[in-house]
Amino acid sequence: DPALHLDNIVKTYNPGTPGEVRVLHGIDLTLTAGEAVALVAPSGAGKSTLLHIAGLLDTPDSGTVAIGGQDMTGQPEARRTAVRRQEVGFVYQFHHLLPEFTAAENIILPQLANGIPRATAEARASELLTLVGVAPRATHRPAALSGGEQQRVAFCRAMANRPRLLLADEPTGNLDPETADQVFAALMTLVRTTSMAALIATHNLDLAARMDRVLRLNAGRLES
Ligand code: ADP
Ligand code: ADP
Repeated sequence: DPALHLDNIVKTYNPGTPGEVRVLHGIDLTLTAGEAVALVAPSGAGKSTLLHIAGLLDTPDSGTVAIGGQDMTGQPEARRTAVRRQEVGFVYQFHHLLPEFTAAENIILPQLANGIPRATAEARASELLTLVGVAPRATHRPAALSGGEQQRVAFCRAMANRPRLLLADEPTGNLDPETADQVFAALMTLVRTTSMAALIATHNLDLAARMDRVLRLNAGRLES
């Protein structure tokens, strides 16, 4: 089963009112395990809406969303939340790490919340931090880390529960070009090592070109 399958997704905000915004009209997308796909879109094109629908944070007006072959259409919110917590990791432009916890604890806590035993969670955190080159900073709080380190820890946290799907919204948007490169390389290492699928929205066309595919969101549709 593909990590993510979107079929004919349509989304309009405020339908039938003067504030109507037709954002997505007929989005089809299939992401398979181990694949990193760039999503390139001008501001306001509907990139966040698409990522939120793919990550079960929002529902489309019509069309189907399937994660790991599980069709989420018409599923109750509790089920959607359960699937999201297990199968989807999110990363944003700003890291949203918990400031009072160390880098390692930020990766351990979501696993404990998911019923993983502490020893397993600690081993997983240390494995992830090693992959992205932040293991030496494991016991530091986010404020003591550089922007690039913070973002690499945010990737590790998003992957803590071994999701099938990583959704990233401008994950390098706040970083200087050299740091963005480093963070991007760490992300690709994680994707290749874990066989998850990643959909990464970016304005950085150099980074986009280094992914497996580039999709453009234009006038409510995806083009390759
Ligand atoms: P992007 O992430 O590409 O900048 P968004 O998905 O945030 O785009 O928004 C796409 C369009 O939908 C924009 O015109 C935005 O103003 C509009 N929009 C987003 N969210 C809402 C909402 N909750 N209600 C009404 N309009 C919205
Ligand atoms: P938690 O297990 O922390 O309660 P949730 O199930 O609420 O998490 O959310 C799962 C993921 O979705 C988290 O990574 C969180 O960052 C993201 N998320 C939750 N709500 C929103 C939202 N309204 N906008 C963007 N991301 C969200």
